[in-house]
Amino acid sequence: SVQAASKPHYTITTDTTYPPFEFQTANGQFKGIDMDLLKAIAKREGFTYTLKPMSFNSGVQSVQAGQADAIIAGMTITDERRQTFDFSDPYYKSGIVIAANEKNKKVNSLADLKGQKVAVKTGTAGAEYAMSLAKKYDLKIVSFNDSNTMYADVMVGNEAAAFEDQPVMAYAIAQGTKMKIISKPAQAGDYGFAVKKGANAALLDKFNQGYASLVADGTYDKIVQSYLGKHG
Ligand code: GLN
Repeated sequence: SVQAASKPHYTITTDTTYPPFEFQTANGQFKGIDMDLLKAIAKREGFTYTLKPMSFNSGVQSVQAGQADAIIAGMTITDERRQTFDFSDPYYKSGIVIAANEKNKKVNSLADLKGQKVAVKTGTAGAEYAMSLAKKYDLKIVSFNDSNTMYADVMVGNEAAAFEDQPVMAYAIAQGTKMKIISKPAQAGDYGFAVKKGANAALLDKFNQGYASLVADGTYDKIVQSYLGKHG
């Protein structure tokens, strides 16, 4: 319709798989907390978008290259990223945990990882954290493009543990991934929707306004609870 054509249209990137924030259903639909927030915000704020799922690292780069207008991918707001991105208001609290194969009796703490291989996801806050510990614990870092492949490689025993965001790791375990969290959450941070610094201020504004209205009328809580239950 004429009205639909007049709405601003954006290209927004997300991670290929990062449940409960984004994941693909059996019929190819993208679902999750980020996906539902974005959909509801676009509807309220009157914009449309094309979703471009890709590895987290590629998504980050595509926004920087101007190939995508924004990213929503369980992306942690960090001071380093603030130099090249403008972030929305924070919408979810997170932190980084270390997780090992549930059956691995020898790995129960960070100290147990000394001299071993650990798995990280390229370009993530978890990877940065692992690198910051690498010298002290003599960690040998192995990088992956997506979380599922990373978990699978730890499960077959190629790495002793993976560095992952707490809500994502806890959700994977609750959904049946046979891993155990062996550390307290570290590097606490919040997730934000992000655009390239200085670009797309209008989109960022719409996100913040839409997000505030979803919080105010309880829709935000409903979305989170639909994935995590009442105590999520
Ligand atoms: N929260 C982490 C980060 O921003 C990981 C994001 C992800 O893997 N999608 O680096």
